[in-house]
Amino acid sequence: MGETECPSLGDLLSAVRECRACEKHLPLGPRPVLRAGESARILVVGQAPGARVHASGIPWDDPSGDRLREWMCLDKDRFYDESQIAIIPMGYCYPGRGKGGDLPPRRECAALWLDQLLARLPRIEVTLLIGLHAQRHFLGSRRKRSLTETVKAWREFAPEYLPLPHPSARNTPWFRSNPWFEHELLPVLREQEKSRPTR
Ligand code: SF4
Repeated sequence: MGETECPSLGDLLSAVRECRACEKHLPLGPRPVLRAGESARILVVGQAPGARVHASGIPWDDPSGDRLREWMCLDKDRFYDESQIAIIPMGYCYPGRGKGGDLPPRRECAALWLDQLLARLPRIEVTLLIGLHAQRHFLGSRRKRSLTETVKAWREFAPEYLPLPHPSARNTPWFRSNPWFEHELLPVLREQEKSRPTR
């Protein structure tokens, strides 16, 4: 679908939800999970839905999402208010599992849709880059050698971007060995959200 055929964000989201471009690679079939409103000021870019989110169709509807909301100091009502917060992962459908856990997000999503979606979100002020895939895409050569170094260098990317680790429980050792994350970066993240106007 070309830009001229898809003038509104709503039309574009409908088109994305019909996408079957990489269907043959998806063990549970296509089910794009993303949400956005034109007035959104925060963009959350994660990796790809896990099996639980695939089943519910609700992004971050899992323990990782609970931790992310805790980081942001947001309850579910505010987190899922798409007029304020857009949630667009790097891959929109559950990619399946490999030996080391869930597979990486399908690259087709960003190639087909991401620029078109971003063009229809003119009020985004801060983009949360959660995990390596989002940081690689949005920061390009500005990204550091490791996720830890990239997150530690967050001041270089703020206020446009805030790089974050994935809030998965599997990263608990990382949170423990990087206490600066909780003491330095999370207060900034919370401040970003608090500074948004309430409806
Ligand atoms: S993963 Fe992305 S490209 Fe593949 S079917 Fe889903 S939305 Fe389309």
